[in-house]
Amino acid sequence: VLEHTPAASTPLSPQQNTPVRTADTRSARIWMPKRVVFTPDALDEPFGQQIYERVTALNLPIEVMKNNRITGLRGADDRETYRIAKNTLAVVNAPKSAFRLQPIPPSADWQMNLAEGCPAHCQYCYLAGSLAGPPVVRVYANLPKMLESTAAYEGTYPPNRSWQGTDADRPTTFEVSCYTDVLGIEHLTGSLAECIKYYGTRAKGQLRFVTKYDQVDSLLDLPHNGQTRARVSLNADTVARRLEGGTASVEARLQAIRKLALPKELGGGGYPIGLVIAPIMPIPDWREHYTALLDRIAEVLDFSRTAGPLDMNVELISHRFTPGSKDVLLQWYPNTTLDMEEATRAEKRNKFGGTKYVYRPDDMKELKTFFYTEWQKRFPNAPILYWT
Ligand code: SF4
Repeated sequence: VLEHTPAASTPLSPQQNTPVRTADTRSARIWMPKRVVFTPDALDEPFGQQIYERVTALNLPIEVMKNNRITGLRGADDRETYRIAKNTLAVVNAPKSAFRLQPIPPSADWQMNLAEGCPAHCQYCYLAGSLAGPPVVRVYANLPKMLESTAAYEGTYPPNRSWQGTDADRPTTFEVSCYTDVLGIEHLTGSLAECIKYYGTRAKGQLRFVTKYDQVDSLLDLPHNGQTRARVSLNADTVARRLEGGTASVEARLQAIRKLALPKELGGGGYPIGLVIAPIMPIPDWREHYTALLDRIAEVLDFSRTAGPLDMNVELISHRFTPGSKDVLLQWYPNTTLDMEEATRAEKRNKFGGTKYVYRPDDMKELKTFFYTEWQKRFPNAPILYWT
C-alpha cells in the first residue's frame, strides 16, 4: 500500500486461537486531496461554485483546466499513477450517458452516481476493473440537474428486484453509492446532503447510500422525511483492519449508524437504516469473528429501552472477484493478503460471458446458513434483503 498502511490484524490469543477484543474506535481519516481540479463547464454550474467555495475554505490548492479534459494523472508507473489519482479530486460535469440510469439489482431499482472514484483503499475494492483510467475521484457539478432528471424514473421498476416485491405503487429506489464512498467526500462536496434533501421532497423516490466512514453529524438535521435509507458497510474487525485502508473502524461505523438511526427528538437523525455485511470471507475462525460482529451490532443498536423497534434491514454479500478486478487489485496492492486463489473458488458466468469467482457451493451454503440463523436469532424484525 502506498500512502495508507492498514493496521495489523486483530491478535489471536495463543491458547484459544480466538480473537482478542480490542476497543478500536478510530474514526476515518478525513480525505484532503493534494490537488483539486475543476473543468470550466463544472465551474459554470451553481453547484460547482458551491464545491469551489468549500474547497477554497479548506485551503486546498485549486487548478482550473483549460478545457474539459483532466490531465496530469499519469505517473511513471502504475503505482505512481495510483498515488497521484488517489490524491486528486476532479470536479467535472457528468456526461449525458450518466443521465440514463442503469438498473442495480439486488441493491435498488436504479443507480444514480454523484461521483466516481473513492478516497479509501480497500484491497478488494469493488471499483477495480470497472473504472476507466486512473482511480481519480470525479465528482459531478451538475448533480442538481441529474437529480431532477431522476423524476422520470419514479414509478418505473426494472426486472429482478425480488426483495422489493412487485407492488407498482411502492417508491422507486435510487442507489447512490455504486462508484464512490459518498460520505468520504461529503466534506468537500455536500453532494450527499443535496441528494438527501432532494429525495426528502419526493413521495415516489427514495435514496439509498452506504458508507465505511463515520463523519455523519452534518446529516443529522437534514429534512430527509424518511425517504433516505442510510447504511453502513461492516465486516469482521480483523478483515476491516487488514483490508479496508483509510476507513473508520467497525466500532466507529456502528456508532455512526446508531446516531443516524436514533430519533430526532433524542438527538439523532431519525433515518431508516441498513447494514451491509460485506465482503463476507471464510477467514480462519470465521464463526467466532462474525459472531463477535453480530453480538456487537446487537449491543450498539439495542434501542428497546429508548426508542423502540428500529426500521432496519441487512444485505449479506460474500466475496467475489473477476480476472479483470484481480489484475487491477494486484497492481494497486501488490503485497495484499487478500485471498484471490481461483483454485479454491467456483467459477460463475454472467449472461454477457464474463467470469467471476465465488466461494464453492458447500462453503457458500455453510456461510449463508450461519448468517441467516444468527441474524434472525438476534434481529427477528430486521429483514435480510438478500444473500449473494
Ligand atoms: Fe472501494 Fe468501496 Fe473501499 Fe471505496 S469504500 S475503496 S469504493 S471498496
